[in-house]
Amino acid sequence: MVPFPMKPKVVLYHPVPQDVIDLLESHFELTHFPKVDAENKLSFLAAVSEAHGIIGMGLPVSTLELKPAKHLKVITTISAGYDSFDVSELNHQGVLLMNLFDPLTETTADLAFALLMASARRIVELDGWMRQGQWERAVSKQQFGVDIHGKTLGIVGLGRIGAAIARRGALGCGMKVLYTARTPKVDAENQLGARRCSLNELLSESDFVVVAVPLSAETTHLIGKNEFSLMKKTAIIVNIARGAVIDENAMIEALQQGTIHGAGLDVFETEPLPASSPLIGMQNVVLAPHIGSATEETRDAMSRYAAESLIDFLVHNKVRNPVNPEVLQSP
Ligand code: NAP
Repeated sequence: MVPFPMKPKVVLYHPVPQDVIDLLESHFELTHFPKVDAENKLSFLAAVSEAHGIIGMGLPVSTLELKPAKHLKVITTISAGYDSFDVSELNHQGVLLMNLFDPLTETTADLAFALLMASARRIVELDGWMRQGQWERAVSKQQFGVDIHGKTLGIVGLGRIGAAIARRGALGCGMKVLYTARTPKVDAENQLGARRCSLNELLSESDFVVVAVPLSAETTHLIGKNEFSLMKKTAIIVNIARGAVIDENAMIEALQQGTIHGAGLDVFETEPLPASSPLIGMQNVVLAPHIGSATEETRDAMSRYAAESLIDFLVHNKVRNPVNPEVLQSP
């Protein structure tokens, strides 16, 4: 990359801690939009049209709207998922996209396990029950949950987060782990006794199914009516990946008809989840508003990591976590 004659121009479009702003300002001519909405979208696009790099969580405009930005070389998203970007359009524009994993893998796995446990032990439902003053005598069968320890945990997509969930299940709760992935995971097999199998086998054998596969053309509605029909009636599904990996209408039907027992969900086909969603009224569902990485420590670490990636690229010509490294090969 040809060195910049002056400080590169960078647009930040997410609220980040002051020390991260200071870090970016020490290397770049920075324009900061703490949020982008209909009111300031044109000013945002005007700033982007002059920028060499942009950094934020996801993309608040369509990828096509970045096209007039002639100097734009790189985007750093403060997230692991990058489904709000059209990567082939970025390739066309010659813009590198970088994402991040390290700071949020364990945090997201924690949340997956929290959802699994809350669903199995009916924590949210029974919390509401107590607050309504219904705890009048020792609980009976109506309030019983299901065991977690010793059960079978099926992980759809044993990548970074999937493996961290598998460790919690196998080492923390003595669970048997089944998984799907495009390639075998020898470490998880040797260290955790995990076994790779087909999606259908995983669905029919597992007591808990955790979805941890990225959203792509191949994984959209990977789990639909047919897949729910393969699952145990006692099974609980947890989704911390992306809403559209599951056919949400089919899941609602499966939960209503008792095809499966319950669900713990951090992600939805439409976010924020519309108030009209039947999921909101279901006692056998634990809902979270896409909080996989939403802890103070992790969000700060993610912002810092993403800022350092941008500095590495624009100042030191080093690439971390490229989503589309192919653009670096093109002239
Ligand atoms: P990762 O390391 O890339 O792991 C993805 C796994 O899915 C890999 O094992 C991969 O198999 C497998 N996979 C990919 N495409 C597949 C396909 N078509 N069929 C079967 N398996 C497939 O990703 P990660 O860091 O674990 O993150 C997973 C996803 O979690 C992210 O993409 C993001 O959408 C989501 N996420 C959500 C939150 C949240 O706040 N809820 C936070 C972070 C991430 P191979 O290893 O064989 O390629």
